[in-house]
Amino acid sequence: MTFDDNAKIGGGKVSKRGRNVGIGVGGGIGVIAIVLIGQLLGVDLSGLVGAGGGGGAVDSSSDEVITNCETGADANAGIECRLEGAAESLDAYWAEEAPALGATYATTNVKLFSEGVATGCGNATSAVGPFYCPPDQLIYLDTTFYDELRSRFGASGGPLSEMYVIAHEWGHHIQNLTGAISASQDGTTGAASGSVRVELQADCYAGAWVAAASTQPTAASDVPLLKPVTPAEIADALNAAASIGDDRIQQQSGGDVNPEAWTHGSSEQRQKWFQAGYDGGAAACDTFSVSDSKL
Ligand SMILES: [Zn+2]
Repeated sequence: MTFDDNAKIGGGKVSKRGRNVGIGVGGGIGVIAIVLIGQLLGVDLSGLVGAGGGGGAVDSSSDEVITNCETGADANAGIECRLEGAAESLDAYWAEEAPALGATYATTNVKLFSEGVATGCGNATSAVGPFYCPPDQLIYLDTTFYDELRSRFGASGGPLSEMYVIAHEWGHHIQNLTGAISASQDGTTGAASGSVRVELQADCYAGAWVAAASTQPTAASDVPLLKPVTPAEIADALNAAASIGDDRIQQQSGGDVNPEAWTHGSSEQRQKWFQAGYDGGAAACDTFSVSDSKL
């Protein structure tokens, strides 16, 4: 999925930390943070964390809003501007769609970091993967995650799969606004658990946005930022969705596939719900009312 080179990007949705070396934190803190954030939901790829990794450096430098993204051409050229453009399109889409889901829309922002970051959910290291933190209502992402996505899971990792990840996390923000996110905290795991339903709904919301993005004007641009998606690009996004299914993660990490431990859904489930959102929009994303066998 590529941007219209001439579309305007207004900036301000994505910030990043300075490149300064952060303050090291004790070895146990990173692990505790991973568990804490896991409980609060939003951690993707928790299966690859290998929670014995110890603490990371928490960057203490201040946030800088990215200001060098002005056009769709910038978004096509680099990952940071691509995420900025995606965030602006997601913001415009959900401002229109959230009321139909019974939510009063409030925006979120994306915080890029390297190595470690202090959040409203505790300190996090890059190892946790992208996540949404409900207490501070922000999305956190280390862009080196995308390198890992490609090298460890074989996702083709094109621009749409990069944006899919942000769209999925934005979906968790919408769930925070609708209240659906609380279903992830029922303490259960397994193929039809509340946390799997929450994750699959976020995948569905990502699909809904992808389908609408090429017609969605934004605050900064009358011209939609994104060009229509191609079948090859959809395959790319589905590949990303498949590569981060719990069954795939368990296989890649050498374990047996055990549905009882699933918190995100299988590769097949994630692809199915992304497609459901793509075909039917956000209204088609009620993963909570379908029976276990239809999930
Ligand atoms: Zn998620």
